[in-house]
Amino acid sequence: MLNHTNSAALFDQAKSLIPGGVNSPVRAFRSVGGGPVFMQSAQGAWLTDVDGNRYVDFINSWGPMILGHAPEVVLEAVREALQGSLSFGAPTQREVAMAGLIREMVPSIEKVRLVNSGTEACMSAIRVARGYTGRSKIIKFEGCYHGHGDSFLIAAGSGALTLGTPDSAGVTEGVAQDTITVAYNDLAAVKAAVDANPEQVAALILEPVVGNMGLVAPGPGFLQGLRDLCTANGIVLIFDEVMTGFRLAPGGAQELYGVTPDLTTLGKIIGGGLPVGAYGGREDIMNCVAPAGKVYQAGTLSGNPLATAAGFAQLSYLRDNPALYEQLNATTTRLADGTRKIAAELGLNYTVNQVGSMFSLFFTAEPVNSLDDAKKSDTAAFGRYFHAMLNRGIYLAPSQYEALFVSTAITSDIVDLYLSACRESLQEAHAQ
Ligand code: PMP
Repeated sequence: MLNHTNSAALFDQAKSLIPGGVNSPVRAFRSVGGGPVFMQSAQGAWLTDVDGNRYVDFINSWGPMILGHAPEVVLEAVREALQGSLSFGAPTQREVAMAGLIREMVPSIEKVRLVNSGTEACMSAIRVARGYTGRSKIIKFEGCYHGHGDSFLIAAGSGALTLGTPDSAGVTEGVAQDTITVAYNDLAAVKAAVDANPEQVAALILEPVVGNMGLVAPGPGFLQGLRDLCTANGIVLIFDEVMTGFRLAPGGAQELYGVTPDLTTLGKIIGGGLPVGAYGGREDIMNCVAPAGKVYQAGTLSGNPLATAAGFAQLSYLRDNPALYEQLNATTTRLADGTRKIAAELGLNYTVNQVGSMFSLFFTAEPVNSLDDAKKSDTAAFGRYFHAMLNRGIYLAPSQYEALFVSTAITSDIVDLYLSACRESLQEAHAQ
């Protein structure tokens, strides 16, 4: 067993100072048991914890470290930006460059506003959709996560799902009434919800590829069906590409599937690891945002010089090196196919879902296309597997209901390491 003495001591101290000892719930290892590992540093594919243990990172800060940790191209840009002060609260050239680059890579984004997190991006996009349409209701999908804005904490995914609180306390009944939830990949249910609320639905928001109930791909025609339904009913279609933007393709899931939303929300990845988010889309809708229009949204640190420098460096590097996407996909296909094969050889036949550089191993032999499917997983066995992998130096998301993220720093040797740990850990998890 690895030694976690320093992590355990820090967690004890943290619990007396921070709710649950962590600044974001999923970090607490609640569903897998045990205490979290406190990190010290990271380089490339490798994390080092406060006890000196090293792990291959398959979380990558929940997505943004697409080039692995501490890539020189991003660090260099941040060092340069540091010389010019940390914040101005005034416009800068970097924000203009960043907006231009986002528009170039994601053409549906004609205008974009930078914010400080994915949560802010999604909250703001919904407000704009409401302002633009003059309608109140939104449709979201069970198991999708769009940050912790009140309206999204109904049937939410990610940590809310993991902790068994998909409907958060503190969200008013009024908000709940304005939020309609349907099952992912069920186009008929969406149509029924739209028909039941004529001219009342402002927006339909979804993860075009879901990462927050584990990795779930849209079925054939699902995204286009939603596009057509929204167009026919005057509903603003919002793709939450906080995880998928610039990851699944230079232009995100919308490029990969060839379906164009009205608005897109972005986060994490466009900060290269610094706190950032963005929302953007059709010019006529975005022109509703203050000071151009009447929907208010603001931020003291929005467009922060360090965050825009890091994000611009990371995004332009991805744009200039499209072969990286082939590399990421090939690495992830080896990981996902290898995992599936091992599970089959052990007689488990577990489901492995993969899209591009995201994948999930579900502890169920049935296909997973929705939250109900994902919930069939044996989460106790997953918990044992998680700890067996951790002990072998493989750092996975500490929940069945999260996707794994692959970085360009994962080499073929590391894939081999992962696969042998996967075989041993699956055996260990089912030894009882
Ligand atoms: N949308 C999606 C799809 C996400 O995965 C997340 C965070 N994991 C968010 C929104 C919220 O982003 P943040 O944590 O930066 O507020």
